[in-house]
Amino acid sequence: MNKQNQISIGIDFGSHNIRTAGVDTSGNLLTPIYVSEDLAPDDSVKAFELKVVAMLKKVFDDTDQKNIAGIGIGCPSWNGAKQVIGIAPNLPHRLQGLPLGIKLQNWTEEQGFGKLPVFIDNDANSAAVGELLFGGWGELALNMVVLTLGGGIGGGVIITPPEVVMENGKIKLVYHKEKTIVLRGHHLKGAELGHMSIALPQGMKYYSCGCGNLYCLEGQLRVNAVKMRAMDKLKENAGMDRLSTIFDQIRKEHPEAKIMKELIPLVEPRHINNAANDNQDRLALNIEEEVAIAFAQGLRNITQIFDPSLIVIAGEMGKKWPSLTKRAEQIFRSQKGVVPHSDVKIGISKLRNSGILGAAALIFQEWL
Ligand SMILES: [Zn+2]
Repeated sequence: MNKQNQISIGIDFGSHNIRTAGVDTSGNLLTPIYVSEDLAPDDSVKAFELKVVAMLKKVFDDTDQKNIAGIGIGCPSWNGAKQVIGIAPNLPHRLQGLPLGIKLQNWTEEQGFGKLPVFIDNDANSAAVGELLFGGWGELALNMVVLTLGGGIGGGVIITPPEVVMENGKIKLVYHKEKTIVLRGHHLKGAELGHMSIALPQGMKYYSCGCGNLYCLEGQLRVNAVKMRAMDKLKENAGMDRLSTIFDQIRKEHPEAKIMKELIPLVEPRHINNAANDNQDRLALNIEEEVAIAFAQGLRNITQIFDPSLIVIAGEMGKKWPSLTKRAEQIFRSQKGVVPHSDVKIGISKLRNSGILGAAALIFQEWL
């Protein structure tokens, strides 16, 4: 089999829709991206399966079918490299436990392609595999942690244990790609980096995480946590900072909102991002600073535990708010630890369509 010509079908499973396309071994899209209609909460499981199969059929029709190597699915659930959708709080409840991989494999057989491999993995793990194969990070990616910032905080850990060799009397570490693994843990539920506890400076407020723990990184850094912190700050400062450009943006988007009580709940992380960057708005910078402090604690824990060469910030909020990562990196660089912080590169994902590419990469990763 000539691996160069192979195609993987990537399926990016979001909480609202599904996106899929064919991908080559260099990470190029070979077909249009097909997007499902909304995953209506009242869809039956059968209706859901039919939607997925209808989309897959379009991708199969658009590609050189004899070169299709398999189907990779990135899914917001805990399951890991299996064929079943696991516990998935952000997906319709009835989809949990659905052996979608087995059903799709049977479908590929019925269509005359044989039983093609179908892998379902946690979307942060698939994002990490996507960065490994297509992210453009070179050897740095061989020991890499990927953090996805969005509605939740996902984590993917790529590990390549070095071989210690002597060269001209000096110790040298050599990394072999074929030894690279994704850390998935004993139950295939790792690595949930969003649920690590972090320490905040005294007086800084913690926001509860959905898992029930008060101190999680996710509880401070997910979109909703940023929103809650911003709402609290806006309430505290409503008198003084009535003229903050955060309010200008909200007023523009929601002309119907007039008074503080109506304006404040409409704040979103993008308003903070814009106000901090465009106008150096004092209140926005203050909110960004607190979020960055929490973020930096996460980067510190990751570095001390995994000793990575690279931490990649991905996910929609991570990509769209680079000044947050920049500030978190500055704080991180100033912190102390046994594993030196100066040796870790912090980068923001450059991948477009990273959900689809990461899912597709699950198939190619087997060939490393
Ligand atoms: Zn948690």
